[in-house]
Amino acid sequence: MNTQYSNHKFPRVVIIGGGFGGIEVAKALKNKEVEVMLLDRNNHHTFQPLLYQVATGTLDAPSIAFPLRKMFRKQENFTFRIADVLGIDATNKTLDTDIGSISYDYLIIATGATTNFFGNQDIAHNAMPMKNVKEAVSIRSFILQNIEDSLLKTDTEERSAYLNFVVVGGGPTGVELSGAIAEIRNHILTKDYPELKKEDMNVYLVEGLPKILANLSPQASEKAELYLKELGVKVLLNVQVTGYDGDIITFADGNRIKTKTVLWSAGVMGQFPSGINPDIVVRGNRIRTDEECRVIGMKDVFAIGDVAAMITDELPRGHPGVAPVAQQQGRFLAKNIIRMLSGQPTEKFNYFDKGSMATIGRNKAVVDIGKIRFQGFFAWWVWMFVHLMSLVGFRNRVVTFINWAINYLTFNAGIRLIIHKYRRPERVREPVNE
Ligand SMILES: Cc1cc2nc3c(=O)[nH]c(=O)nc-3n(C[C@H](O)[C@H](O)[C@H](O)COP(=O)(O)OP(=O)(O)OC[C@H]3O[C@@H](n4cnc5c(N)ncnc54)[C@H](O)[C@@H]3O)c2cc1C
Repeated sequence: MNTQYSNHKFPRVVIIGGGFGGIEVAKALKNKEVEVMLLDRNNHHTFQPLLYQVATGTLDAPSIAFPLRKMFRKQENFTFRIADVLGIDATNKTLDTDIGSISYDYLIIATGATTNFFGNQDIAHNAMPMKNVKEAVSIRSFILQNIEDSLLKTDTEERSAYLNFVVVGGGPTGVELSGAIAEIRNHILTKDYPELKKEDMNVYLVEGLPKILANLSPQASEKAELYLKELGVKVLLNVQVTGYDGDIITFADGNRIKTKTVLWSAGVMGQFPSGINPDIVVRGNRIRTDEECRVIGMKDVFAIGDVAAMITDELPRGHPGVAPVAQQQGRFLAKNIIRMLSGQPTEKFNYFDKGSMATIGRNKAVVDIGKIRFQGFFAWWVWMFVHLMSLVGFRNRVVTFINWAINYLTFNAGIRLIIHKYRRPERVREPVNE
């Protein structure tokens, strides 16, 4: 066993994942008699709610990411390693990682979720997900590349494929992303590309359910749809995507759209290292926990946030996959670990739902806070304030605020850079048995 990372003066709490949940556990264990080790495959925390603004050129990537080492530099009991955790050996209390074996006394799995393509290999290969900074930057490049490429096509039909942008999934991410792409068309297209007309570009939002924002109130759903239509987004409801080959997206009703760009925000699934009993992996590939975030059947192993499913009679599908759940579970779990170490009784987790919101272009948002529901300009200010304050780091808040102000005043946020040309990865065909 590799013990190079430990003096073992205090019990070691190892956290896999420096996302919303993981960083809260680590912060709440500051100055406590534990050794905290955070492992993440990236060296930064990502503020996922604003990824769509990176994808559409309003913000640059560093505004929504924050280096994990900088975040914890004043925390003495803290160690960080860039590591991809591959497996959990609960019997020996060790982790198998790409930097070697790491031992733990308490393990917290806070590995979040990845994109769910529901097993469709063609869509997985050709559509673009948006779960991290790299993917958001690729989307930005690809949108710009396709507009550039459209100028080289003389055939109208052929050109339209480069200027049709299809977003799949009518949750908050799909709504925000399609709204922001529509704003590019409405305010930027003809300025940057005088050869093109607004009508040349189409933005579609495809949703399998009869309404968008299905987890919000009916008022929020209706208003969001209206706002998107005002922006010129073509909202297709009750439409199931059946395939996408990189040129044409097909639907179960037989319709199809020629498009080079399909952005996939239609589903997520938990991701975690091997070593978890498949019997406790539930819907959405999430790990079942008890009400104290303890992984069922595993000693001293806990799961929080998007990867965890705390299933109770009141919550048969667990908590929603949103940042406040991960954050509250992180803080709760840190307190429970301290209670365990000091021999005090542990407590059960209670989620405090602060509400949901989504923005749909400038001046427009929908907000549900319990029974209080409002939409429009005031909702948009609330959305901006909440997101600005939630960003990690003073610099990020200032830079984001300045970018938003410039964008608001000029209709022209400027981060339309193609830094690396995006190319679809080569497809490795699975061998076909004769
Ligand atoms: C585009 C988008 C928009 C969103 N908008 C909102 C919103 O407006 N409001 C809201 O409340 N929620 C929103 N969410 C959901 C929210 O971001 C998640 O609920 C939240 O990030 C969950 O936190 P987490 O700690 O469980 O996981 P994450 O924040 O995803 O963190 C997981 C971390 O684990 C690391 N990791 C994963 N596997 C390994 C491994 N094997 N080894 C090492 N490291 C690993 C990852 O690198 C990552 O840093 C959005 C999500 C997305 C993708």
